[in-house]
Amino acid sequence: MSLMHEMGERALRLGVPFSVHLDLTYRCNEQCVHCYLDHDDHGEMTTAEIKHLLKEMADSGVFILTLSGGEIFLRKDFFEILEYARDLTFCIKLKTNAVLIREAQAARLRDLGVQSIQVSIYSHRPEVHDAITKVPGSLKRSLKAIRFLKSQGLRVVMANVLMTENMHDYRGTQALANEIGAEYTMDPTVTPMMDGGRTVLELNVGESDLRNVFRDENLIGNVDEFCAPPRAANEDDLNSLPCSAGHTSCYVSPYGEFYPCVQFPLSCGNVREQRFIDIWRHSERLKEVRSIRLRDLSSCSKCAHGGSCTRCPGLAFMEGNMRGPSTQDCEKSFARTGIPSLNLLSKKQEQDKDKDKDQDSPPRLVQIQLVPAITGRRLAEMGGGAVSAIAS
Ligand code: SF4
Ligand code: SF4
Repeated sequence: MSLMHEMGERALRLGVPFSVHLDLTYRCNEQCVHCYLDHDDHGEMTTAEIKHLLKEMADSGVFILTLSGGEIFLRKDFFEILEYARDLTFCIKLKTNAVLIREAQAARLRDLGVQSIQVSIYSHRPEVHDAITKVPGSLKRSLKAIRFLKSQGLRVVMANVLMTENMHDYRGTQALANEIGAEYTMDPTVTPMMDGGRTVLELNVGESDLRNVFRDENLIGNVDEFCAPPRAANEDDLNSLPCSAGHTSCYVSPYGEFYPCVQFPLSCGNVREQRFIDIWRHSERLKEVRSIRLRDLSSCSKCAHGGSCTRCPGLAFMEGNMRGPSTQDCEKSFARTGIPSLNLLSKKQEQDKDKDKDQDSPPRLVQIQLVPAITGRRLAEMGGGAVSAIAS
């Protein structure tokens, strides 16, 4: 077990907020097609408010601090905040598009000793990356910055959100990361808008493409393990926590709103009105999130994937029920294993009904196709009535 993991376990036992993601601004110098944020400034916390919050976080035992946005370098006080945070001895991770990082900023980040810098890169091809960010020349500038950061000996992670626009470029992007000496991480999840809008989900990679991605060993490593048949939840799984959100980690927005996670927009309070630690300890909503175990999830606890699914409670919440399934995770489980969850099948039936009603209806949310290698027998073994629904 790594030291970080051990510290996380200890924090969980002690009820300490081990890791906080703080967005300093929602303003951005890129306008990415898949972005879930409203970029207007609706009253960001001031420098003094952020410093006050950081002190409260340090006093509460926070160890890992992720500073993100929007674009963090758009805050004129960014280095003042960063210096203050380092004085409080947080382990600091940054997320940025790096467009505004030059040699001088890279050197300053090195001097301040940040743990890692994650830079969003969508493709190795400028025409694809720049079309996603809607900023001509942005790939060139981000890559130049990554080279500055690497030349300072900093740890850089190239983060590649995979969507329909850049679906065929992930290998080239990964090769580029290798060439530069950056780490590479890929995420096929497009997040719904913070205001609940879901049209952006149309950018999600389709099921058959996702299936191919999940079988690329250069990306996945052990494909047999990753794409192993689903496992239903056992007794230990049923008593397990869904994830770290609200247990050892949380998220604070530029306006001071406190949520269990950046991908779980259930407001639990505001640090402008209450002390950080009081929200952490006493928020009724946070207590409710903490009370949930897999056994409390009526669909997922009985699902064939219950013990192996990566279900995100935040995505489930945005879909309407934090105790319900997350269809995006059902889709991933299906792409990995070829076995559809009952939730996915019922969505498919709903879509088919809608399709019958209106032949000109918009594209379907879930595109289920039968995996050639998966036979009716195997489907029947996994979950009964699946076959006729999926094969229709
Ligand atoms: S699973 Fe979802 S809610 Fe939980 S930590 Fe991950 S992104 Fe956040
Ligand atoms: S596949 Fe869907 S229904 Fe099954 S456990 Fe995952 S999120 Fe829940």
